[in-house]
Amino acid sequence: TSLFAAVELAPRDPILGLTEQYNADTRSKKVNLGVGIYYDNEGKIPLLKAVRKAELARVEAAATRGYLPIEGIPGYNQAVQKLLLGDDSALIREGRVLTAQTLGGTGALKIGADFLKRLAPQAKVAISDPSWENHRALFEYAGYEVISYPYYDAATNGLNFDGMIGALESYPAGTVVVLHACCHNPTGVDLSPGQWQRVVEVVKARDLVPFLDIAYQGFGDGIEADAAAVRLFAASGLMVLISSSFSKSFSLYGERVGALTMIAADKDESLRVMSQLKRVIRTNYSNPPTHGGSVVAQILNTPALRAEWEEELAGMRERIRAMRAALVAKLKERGVRRNFDFVLKQRGMFSYSGLTAQQVDRLREEHGIYAVSTGRICVAALNDGNIDAVADGIAAVLS
Ligand code: PMP
Repeated sequence: TSLFAAVELAPRDPILGLTEQYNADTRSKKVNLGVGIYYDNEGKIPLLKAVRKAELARVEAAATRGYLPIEGIPGYNQAVQKLLLGDDSALIREGRVLTAQTLGGTGALKIGADFLKRLAPQAKVAISDPSWENHRALFEYAGYEVISYPYYDAATNGLNFDGMIGALESYPAGTVVVLHACCHNPTGVDLSPGQWQRVVEVVKARDLVPFLDIAYQGFGDGIEADAAAVRLFAASGLMVLISSSFSKSFSLYGERVGALTMIAADKDESLRVMSQLKRVIRTNYSNPPTHGGSVVAQILNTPALRAEWEEELAGMRERIRAMRAALVAKLKERGVRRNFDFVLKQRGMFSYSGLTAQQVDRLREEHGIYAVSTGRICVAALNDGNIDAVADGIAAVLS
């Protein structure tokens, strides 16, 4: 009998499964809020003007497609460091920061996971409860035992900060702690600057290993403001890992544009770490793809394109905020008694709506509105054309 004969069918991805169900739904008035993608007010994935210009310039220049260095495009990696740490970062000047271009944020997490696993094979990885649905599986597949720290508090639709700190304080030294730097996926609930400061103190005191995941920089309060947690950690003198994703902020989902950045104790350590990181990359996929990284580097490093991108990013951020406000107002208009003001405080593309799995089922079955069974809705998929139907549906399942 063959090796494959014993292979069991894996459960299908819950969110992609939801989209398959949505696509098969024949009702004309259906809405998919289950996705993790930013749609514009017309319900389309935008192609940013800055991206189009950079792409046209790239075609014009007849850029050839040789292999990139293992760690990717130097100008890209430098621009990523500045986005994370600021234009005038002493850490960058001192040569303590190293960055590799990766295949999206997922690629950065996996490369970071593989790198750490060789250094500390026994360490556990702690993720928030709940977290992005791929965090657990990704670290488990890299060989880790994954535990979770309290995060979301259903009673307040906010943060269980005491629970989070209590858990961090209980972990043995060396535990890898994955933290969403801004715009928490799936809840939309973020820490305040004061709370971040406290987390930095505990991570430092307990000698934990911070792995910051920043997949929505610019979607919360702005490019600089959203990097606040990253900069607090950077300033703390701790060794830090940071995975960046540009899938959403450049609307380049399929191009797989991300980066893994690490902060080392000094320049020599940084060079040694980079040399090992390159081996991890070399044995996984050799080197990253050229197109997406070149486009992003071109935009970040060309002032006019950069300004245009920042404006388009602000447009996406403001549209999401407007949709949050409209949803809350429309639920009030429909006489919904429950207070949904917490939706206004949440940041980024998602909202934990507080709807139960049964209410989510009813939304889908009776109203053609698709959400994740946890109650997560993608606010970035709301638009002027579907928001009334969504408010009607939610009001109906709550009455
Ligand atoms: N981290 C978080 C928190 C995410 O939400 C996502 C994707 N939505 C990623 C990482 C992965 O991003 P990418 O698609 O760039 O791999």
